[in-house]
Amino acid sequence: MAHPFADDFQVRPYWWEAAAPEDTGDASPASVDVAIVGSGYAGLAAALELVRGGQSVALFDAGPLGIGASTRNGGLVSGGLKISKAVARRFGGEVAAAMLEEGRQTLTHLETMIEQEGLETGYRRSGRFVGAHCRSALRAQEAQVQGLTARGIRARIVPKAELRGVIGTDAFVGGMAVDDAGCLHPAMYHRALRNLVRQAGATLTPHCAVNAILREGMGFRLLHASGETTAQHVFVATNGYTGELSPWFRRRLIPLASYMIATEPLPADLIQRLSPEGRVFADTKRVLSYFRISPDGSRVLYGGRASFVDGGEVTGAAKLYRFMTRVWPELDGVELTHAWKGNVAFTFDWVPHIARHDGVVYVGGCQGSGVAMATWLGHQAARSLLGANQPSAFDRDIFPTAPLYDGRPWFLPFVGTWYQLRDALDVRLDRAG
Ligand SMILES: Cc1cc2nc3c(=O)[nH]c(=O)nc-3n(C[C@H](O)[C@H](O)[C@H](O)COP(=O)(O)OP(=O)(O)OC[C@H]3O[C@@H](n4cnc5c(N)ncnc54)[C@H](O)[C@@H]3O)c2cc1C
Repeated sequence: MAHPFADDFQVRPYWWEAAAPEDTGDASPASVDVAIVGSGYAGLAAALELVRGGQSVALFDAGPLGIGASTRNGGLVSGGLKISKAVARRFGGEVAAAMLEEGRQTLTHLETMIEQEGLETGYRRSGRFVGAHCRSALRAQEAQVQGLTARGIRARIVPKAELRGVIGTDAFVGGMAVDDAGCLHPAMYHRALRNLVRQAGATLTPHCAVNAILREGMGFRLLHASGETTAQHVFVATNGYTGELSPWFRRRLIPLASYMIATEPLPADLIQRLSPEGRVFADTKRVLSYFRISPDGSRVLYGGRASFVDGGEVTGAAKLYRFMTRVWPELDGVELTHAWKGNVAFTFDWVPHIARHDGVVYVGGCQGSGVAMATWLGHQAARSLLGANQPSAFDRDIFPTAPLYDGRPWFLPFVGTWYQLRDALDVRLDRAG
């Protein structure tokens, strides 16, 4: 394999070339109706709904506005959600069905908002293709397609013989094409959303870590890097960056780094071969990859769980390069210009949550798919505070943790190794017939 790093290679999200997180903002107010911790999509979406609902809102971030996952992600947008049998048993079939339906609504909610507010996000309904890495995964996709089409979602199986009409590779045994999915420029979406929130009248304060949330009378007092703010209500939307501020929330989230790389600009005919239909891509491995062409149609952006320990971006990039050239061998020799990582958050029941504890509202746990979902959770949590009579299916009393878990996932390297072994075994079993 050729040396993959270009001379101008940077450890920095490619997206920030067009829209970087923002260092400037407002001074923190002394008192507001609602204080929001975290300036990702969830915090911003909650702020927008609340301020339009007549509340005064102050939003704080420990770093620049948008420094978290919301300006680092792949920009793949889907309304898909996996509900495990255990969750269906715990909550009941009706709630599980409501969650699936809401998952679907997250996509239309995002699309409607982008269109109605005229947000500059580069969004398009690209459709999605999920490549099956082995025959048992393809069989599972066949069942999935039946379930999706029964719910009115446009999906179909792509047999191996037809792969090259959808993706320029023979690396999969087939796959599933879902038309109800899209993609956007995540950092441009973040910038458009934060401008909207600012215009609506909320204060946005960067570099202002919230260090404590204290109960005071009927409300709260927040101690933060610029002093104090009192608030009637507090929302915490810190997701994969949740730290000491809330041990209760931290114990319910499993943070995990996700890594991405961007290639140098590539010839148009090569891009056309790699992605003939302009879809976004993922695979069925437990150690998942997701990938796409950049919004300007010139580069490959490839992401995945390159490491289950807190590895560096350069090591992660070399690993992703191997994954990428396995899917698209003709990219061997192409140089990388950017590599970066960010944190996502999983939950112990694998569903996103809106929750309350000691009067504070918490939103998060999008299982690594939060462009549409984090936006939705923030919006729904805000609507609930404003008195919406139909609560979200994700707004539940039960938010599980695990015994002795303190928010530091020591078990991830073991889980990661096990998942990699299982993925490799799947392929070997296929070859053995
Ligand atoms: C590399 C990568 C690729 C991804 N790809 C996709 C994808 O293609 N599609 C998809 O749907 N999802 C994807 N995701 C997931 C998606 O980006 C997240 O689910 C979503 O952005 C979460 O938004 P959020 O608002 O909950 O959190 P974030 O955007 O992470 O924001 C949390 C914020 O809280 C702040 N914070 C933490 N503690 C404090 C404190 N004490 N005081 C003040 N501020 C604090 C942090 O600084 C941070 O800015 C990806 C994520 C990563 C990292």
